[in-house]
Amino acid sequence: MSNAGSKRAAQPIRRVKGTRDLLPPDTAVWAAVEATARQVFERYGYGEVRTPILEETELFVRGVGEATDIVGKEMYTFTDKGGRSLTLRPESTASVARAYVENGLQQWPSPVKLFYIGPQFRYERPQKGRYRQFFQIGAELLGDPGPISDAELLLMLVDFLGALEFTGLTVLLNTVGGEESREAYRRELVRFLEPKKDLLSEDSRRRLDTNPLRILDTKSRAERELLEGAPRLVDSLTSEDREHFEAVRGVLDRFGVSYRLDDRLVRGLDYYTRTVFEITAAGLGAQDAIVGGGRYDGLISEVGGAETPGIGFAIGADRLIDVLPESFRRRALPAPAVLVATVGDVPLDEALALAQELRAAGLPALAELARRSVKNSLKRADRLGLAHVLLLGADELAAGEVTVKDLSTGDQVRLGRAEVADRLRSVAAAGSPDQDDEEEER
Ligand code: AMP
Repeated sequence: MSNAGSKRAAQPIRRVKGTRDLLPPDTAVWAAVEATARQVFERYGYGEVRTPILEETELFVRGVGEATDIVGKEMYTFTDKGGRSLTLRPESTASVARAYVENGLQQWPSPVKLFYIGPQFRYERPQKGRYRQFFQIGAELLGDPGPISDAELLLMLVDFLGALEFTGLTVLLNTVGGEESREAYRRELVRFLEPKKDLLSEDSRRRLDTNPLRILDTKSRAERELLEGAPRLVDSLTSEDREHFEAVRGVLDRFGVSYRLDDRLVRGLDYYTRTVFEITAAGLGAQDAIVGGGRYDGLISEVGGAETPGIGFAIGADRLIDVLPESFRRRALPAPAVLVATVGDVPLDEALALAQELRAAGLPALAELARRSVKNSLKRADRLGLAHVLLLGADELAAGEVTVKDLSTGDQVRLGRAEVADRLRSVAAAGSPDQDDEEEER
């Protein structure tokens, strides 16, 4: 039991390592990014899916793959009071696949298009851009195997990033082939690496047995050099896999999507087949991937459904927002409110009454809720980054007027109460170029 009566100051409780508190005004930017995702995705016929954050551990073991880093070392897994092994989802595609099967979405008109927005959990070493709780915005297209689906999904992704005002991002594109191509390539790669085993890191030696393709992902310079002479996956592709990839590229070319082929791109998850892609952004340091995705034609059957093709992506929202273009961020920030204050012994609820009138007219407004001197109200408004303070003294009240003080110039005018909302609206519209100055104070 806690010693609630004790006078000793309690030790402050800190947030869990690798998690973050998101605070205003940043949360307004998050909300705007999420609203933009909904808007763009819905234009492409995607509907939102919300799956539980908790899943049976087995879902990820089977869906993501036992040999992956995620399942091998990064999951938040625990036994609940009923003795079940549960896991905080480390990603959402496996959950969406489970929900698709469990809710009979195979019966829906195909393809089924779903998007999600939510937290994911991975026990990774925290650093800039890498958290233990992070957020993903993702989309999945289920039920269509064709290359047009791959291309349409990428077009939607590019559209979304464009709506956030990103420019100059390039999609890194590759194909990892289907089961048959991959099996053939795995053999080739192992044949090449086996004699050089001693030169590999411990991790890569282990992967040679469990998941050799992942070695291509290595960050080690020495291993990268070693891999330069390695066989290439593209040479092991079946003709169907090759045609699929060429068709995807053809559509992307037609729509002017800029991409770069990267034949080392394999992605860390087991379920990918054929098309895989990633988008990286400058300015993020080592953790520079903001989007990852690809086709996963074997996943639905892996979690117990009928064979169903799928393709999707996951955007790392934390990183995306870290490098969000300033123009979008600025527009997303809430319009600064005005502060309504009373003067002298005018009752405080008169300030509240005026604030309510402004709010009813659709304007953001703050009312002084405690008695303060005009000087202190002005100081507070300044710290809050507000442009105007509205003052209600006994005079104004009697005359049905308000004194509007412009904090940047110090000018003040008295207006009829009915005019205040219109005046503030027109000042806000005319004043938007000034936002630069406000920006710096934030
Ligand atoms: P993945 O699910 O591993 O394909 O990751 C998709 C995207 O999620 C990555 O490109 C990152 O932007 C983001 N992401 C993955 N892991 C983390 C993490 N630990 N912290 C922050 N973002 C992450």
